Amino acid sequence: MHTHKGGEGECFFHTGRPAVTRCKQCGKPLCSDCRLVTEDGLFCSDKCAQTTGVFVKRSQNLEKKRSGRRKGVPAGLIRFIVFLIIIVVIYKLGRQLIAQGFFEKLLQTIKKP
Ligand SMILES: [Zn+2]
Ligand SMILES: [Zn+2]
Repeated sequence: MHTHKGGEGECFFHTGRPAVTRCKQCGKPLCSDCRLVTEDGLFCSDKCAQTTGVFVKRSQNLEKKRSGRRKGVPAGLIRFIVFLIIIVVIYKLGRQLIAQGFFEKLLQTIKKP
């Protein structure tokens, strides 16, 4: 990678032509005629575009798998924790009300005409 034609700011393929961009994969300076525009970015050749494209798709797939796991497990876990909290609150509240004689009072008020 130390055999670049010309200096910095000059197209890798055209001596004397000013470079407008660099290859995203190998970093070669490129003029407006040499740059290859793809959905993954600007490249010097199909080979570089494919190399980056494969890498991008691979990392995207990995991210999807990771985020899928991240989203999948905690969603159920959070629901389970919320369910447990509700059960505990209802249980404690019920016990408190029984201790205070709430239900007995309630029954008495119902029985009273
Ligand atoms: Zn390249
Ligand atoms: Zn060029």
